[in-house]
Amino acid sequence: MMEKKTAMADRRQFESALIHGGLFGDPLTGSVNTPIYQTSTYQQPELGTNPEWEYSRTGNPTRAALEALIAELEGGSAGFAFASGMAAITAVLQLFQSGDKVLISSNVYGGTYRVLDKVFKPFGLNYGIVDTSDPAALDAAITEDVAAILVESPANPLMTVTDLACVSRIAHAHGVLSIVDNTFMTPYLQRPLELGADIVIHSATKYLGGHSDLVAGLVVVRDEGLAERLAFLQNATGGVLGPFDSFLLIRGIKTLAVRMDRHVANAERAARWLQAHDAVARVYYPGLPEDAGYEVNRRQAKNGGAMISFILKDDYDYRAFFKSLRLIILGESLGGVESLVCHPATMTHASIPHELRLKVGITDNLIRLSVGLEHIDDLLADLQQAIAASKLN
Ligand SMILES: *Cc1c(COP(=O)(O)O)cnc(C)c1O
Repeated sequence: MMEKKTAMADRRQFESALIHGGLFGDPLTGSVNTPIYQTSTYQQPELGTNPEWEYSRTGNPTRAALEALIAELEGGSAGFAFASGMAAITAVLQLFQSGDKVLISSNVYGGTYRVLDKVFKPFGLNYGIVDTSDPAALDAAITEDVAAILVESPANPLMTVTDLACVSRIAHAHGVLSIVDNTFMTPYLQRPLELGADIVIHSATKYLGGHSDLVAGLVVVRDEGLAERLAFLQNATGGVLGPFDSFLLIRGIKTLAVRMDRHVANAERAARWLQAHDAVARVYYPGLPEDAGYEVNRRQAKNGGAMISFILKDDYDYRAFFKSLRLIILGESLGGVESLVCHPATMTHASIPHELRLKVGITDNLIRLSVGLEHIDDLLADLQQAIAASKLN
């Protein structure tokens, strides 16, 4: 029904693959866009024909187009679309068994920590927290029961950079899987499979969707055995993405490169502006040469991305800062066209116990900014007026 333009796929650049990648074409009408196959089931011609499409949990053409697209963009052999980033992470964690242990970086997404601690641990799948930006610490943490290492780089919310090639080398030396949550970078800026990772995960809710209008998750692998197991898990546990959201996500991905270029240009300007500001005590952004993760990030990613965290000096009230913003929206999530600001301690990372939060550097005055596509002058003006309004006498 839909075919892959493999001859071109070998030659085209990433920007072209965003628009033409994956499954392609609609023989019925020639529709330029992937049709939304809003159906749960498919008519079978007769008994015992084993049709390509039989039930939409198992497979749906719109979802299949998206899955082929993300597989191509990440350089994998198979992609899987889920109803959310957490559904994607959950499916990946279901690859493991009671008695196994998953190592996670100390700054992983709060929901990843929560699902391991509150859902999987009671079933006997253990986890360990390690500073994956320190190779020696990671190597030392790999015990007999470790089955996988799950990392983010840059990691939320301190933008801690982990050397992904190094993590994969250490993982493979011990025979364990290397898993990368690539949400913050997207395959336009960083391709973990090319750096040796076995599994890439996305919350496609963020940059891939790009417009804050859907919740979705993606998984990509290269290994055929892993692909088979994930296809089984996706169908068996059923957290699939629906046809309409699959369509929206394909639509969002088409403009990924142009959006990311502007996101990053704005973020670089904002980071330098914040760094030079009298009221700012610290900026966390791996695109700044002064940042601890700058060199490693530069080796493995196109640039520093568009997520910035910062801390105001003690004579500024961070609560007043949040309250005074007019253009930049206070809200969870990131990666949309609009700039979003969040307070990790009470929002994205509230599920991490206070003591553990402080231990990994998520202080109460930390501010996280997802730099959007507004004009940079308007963004800086909003930051400036909110900083001024938050000054304590
Ligand atoms: C948002 C996010 C998730 C969770 O994804 P949902 O789509 O919200 O379920 C996982 N990892 C990272 C890094 C995220 O930012």
